[in-house]
Amino acid sequence: ERASLANAPAGPGRLADDTEIPLLANLGSAGGAEEAVELGAEGVGLFRTEFLFLDSAQAPTVEEQQSQYSSLFAAFPGKKVVVRALDAGADKPLSFLNDAPEENPALGLRGLRALRANEQILRDQLTAIRNAEAENTADVWVMAPMVSTLEETRYFTSIAREIGLKTAGVMIEVPSSALLADRILVDADFASIGTNDLTQYTLAADRLLGSVASFQDPWHPAVLRLVGEVGKAGAALGKPVGICGEAAADPLLAVVLVGLGATSLSMSPAALADVRAELRLYTIEQAQHFAELALKANSAMEARAAVSASASS
Ligand code: PEP
Ligand code: MG
Repeated sequence: ERASLANAPAGPGRLADDTEIPLLANLGSAGGAEEAVELGAEGVGLFRTEFLFLDSAQAPTVEEQQSQYSSLFAAFPGKKVVVRALDAGADKPLSFLNDAPEENPALGLRGLRALRANEQILRDQLTAIRNAEAENTADVWVMAPMVSTLEETRYFTSIAREIGLKTAGVMIEVPSSALLADRILVDADFASIGTNDLTQYTLAADRLLGSVASFQDPWHPAVLRLVGEVGKAGAALGKPVGICGEAAADPLLAVVLVGLGATSLSMSPAALADVRAELRLYTIEQAQHFAELALKANSAMEARAAVSASASS
């Protein structure tokens, strides 16, 4: 795998002052679980379930889904596994969910909005997750993608709890939900910030469009301010705030995100070793100082430069 693995620190994610920051894996199928464990993932922070649905003309049955979730949970006995409800639409279209053509699919019936229009699919998925949880010891959390209002938060958490899932949260990927995090987290058990979409929607730049790719930079102070709002809300209410977008895989940005209040980081398993090593270099006060520097910057480039300069001084 990675050359850095041989001399990478082992063990859990933590700062120089021993503040624990669990390092979790983003997975797209149960098949990746073994490698994630080998690379030191302390659990799964984002299980993308789209793959289960992608190749079929119809939604998979409860039993089909249950066996997939169960084999994932079996790889993480006693560990946290966060499963995201189906995130269809926009960059992940599914014929049986998104049938009407849309001019702006990223602003359309996607994520939880699409599930709401097809509630049985959501109920079946949550039922399969609950049944798989009962067969395993993993600490299973569920979250909804693309939540933009408090009302959507309540919709999702009430169905999840009704089905028997104990820990129900939301992804924060839209500025409205970041700005309302202090209210959303009264109801939700946790928040997980999807920095890929949060950056797309904050900078109003399609994440799939090469001509505006330079805007897709999570170091942008506007994005970091929103992350900070969520971090503050989580700290005030005693609720966990994870990061599961690509930003968590950038070692120095991961430290900034912790300084902004992130309590866990989830990333593709290949990034775990470098992020683990970087976190060990700084205390929480240093991480908070980096966060202040990044927030004060006028651009993503300035933020990155300011934090890099401080880190190497
Ligand atoms: C995100 O938007 O940051 C995220 C983690 O979800 P996805 O990349 O699957 O949209
Ligand atoms: Mg997303």
